[in-house]
Amino acid sequence: MSATRLVVEDKATRELIGDVPVAQHAQIDAAVGAASAAFASWSSVPVVERARLLFRYADGLERRRDDLALSVSRENGKMLADARAEVRRGIEAVEFACGMPSLMMGDALGDVARGIDSVSMRYPLGVCAGITPFNFPAMIPLWMFPLAIAAGNTFVLKPSPQAPLTSQMLETIAHECGFPGGVLTVVHGGVETAEALIDHPAIVAVSFVGSSSAAMRVQERAVRAHKRVQALGGAKNYLIAMPDAAEGATCDAVIGSAFGGAGQRCLAGSVLITVGKAADWLIPRVVEAAAALRMGPGTATDVDMGPVVSDEATARIRGYVERARSAGIDVLLDDGNAPGPGSFFAPVIFDHVDPASELAREEIFGPVLAIVRADSLAQAIAIANASRYGNASSIFTRDGGAARTYASQIQVGMVGINIGVAAPMAFFPFGGVKDSIFGDLRCHGKDAVAFYTQQRVSISRWPS
Ligand code: NAD
Repeated sequence: MSATRLVVEDKATRELIGDVPVAQHAQIDAAVGAASAAFASWSSVPVVERARLLFRYADGLERRRDDLALSVSRENGKMLADARAEVRRGIEAVEFACGMPSLMMGDALGDVARGIDSVSMRYPLGVCAGITPFNFPAMIPLWMFPLAIAAGNTFVLKPSPQAPLTSQMLETIAHECGFPGGVLTVVHGGVETAEALIDHPAIVAVSFVGSSSAAMRVQERAVRAHKRVQALGGAKNYLIAMPDAAEGATCDAVIGSAFGGAGQRCLAGSVLITVGKAADWLIPRVVEAAAALRMGPGTATDVDMGPVVSDEATARIRGYVERARSAGIDVLLDDGNAPGPGSFFAPVIFDHVDPASELAREEIFGPVLAIVRADSLAQAIAIANASRYGNASSIFTRDGGAARTYASQIQVGMVGINIGVAAPMAFFPFGGVKDSIFGDLRCHGKDAVAFYTQQRVSISRWPS
């Protein structure tokens, strides 16, 4: 690995807030070696005792919730209120993992043949690895290792090099709560570190969340090595507004979905499809509300939107905006003055966007909303379904029939009905379809229990 340390800035102020060592091959070997050594004893700890440790961990996280939220807000840039909500969501995943004694329960059937009984039980896999993105530095790691560990696995986590400090805190709190050595280890670095983990012969399963291009590579690499892999990728999420939708609530939901987290969410609604006359009342309202969003540090109280993660992100977003502008697409809200010194980017809204254009099809991952006008629900669904992505989508309507048709036809993994950000709670699976996921099983919910366990069926006959 080339660099030896990763320096982390407060994304709004650019103040240095910490640094972490980049794991070299020897440290990766040591982390995976410790996890392998710990697996033998940890996997034989009764599941109720493992669950008890997770209860303590949930409690430990709750007590440090403010510190964790501050860390998320500073290293990611998002609003402190969003960071607190994110930590809450992460704790809910730990609470879900506390139910592992029931979640891991298998099946049994007596007399499958004369005098023969059969049971199927779930067992842990071994050492699992997690590779996570910058945009939810607390929640996404907590989707992974608590469930894996509650199921009896040991875990090596590699967080985003852009936001690694919160993972350090998650690890410290785990050790304070009594996680035995080697059960959870955090290693730092970028692509090279991630690849070294995926390739490591002692890693048996890889959980990944990040962009689609990386997810695809991670999945291919892990499959080539015959490893279990779940790789959640990027997104382009379509919000469909019907003419009969509740006006104020729909506008609020669109604003929250498009510009919350400065548009850096895999559930961000970055295309608004107005159906028929919805355009007349919704578009002016959305433009007015977006223009009123106040930018500044996430830790300030009178602010609605923080910076994007880096200057590279700003340059990428600016590229999309400038290409759309020079193609003559209607600009309803142009990015105005942004405060410094962080990489702030003011909200932008384009109207009458061609559904086939890059603005309507590619993941911009910034505060840019493209409005596409459709004549009918069928046309709106067809536009959304033509996407290569299939993470989430929402409809806004008072018509149950329209909502039902939409929910059955829309090709995504997460559906919102009068909800702008359709984020499933920890006991449901989180993930999409098409290029938003590589691998079959999603994060948390029962999918995660299946992912982090293997089934064994035993058939027994006892002499009478
Ligand atoms: P990213 O793909 O740049 O990085 C994510 C992680 O993968 C980081 O830890 C990074 O070091 C590592 N990585 C990058 N390239 C890799 C490669 N080729 N091989 C192995 N590891 C690699 O993503 P990001 O910029 O941190 O996060 C934003 C992206 O994540 C967006 O595309 C967003 O939609 C997506 N995301 C998806 C979900 C979901 O649930 N589907 C959730 C959050 C974020």
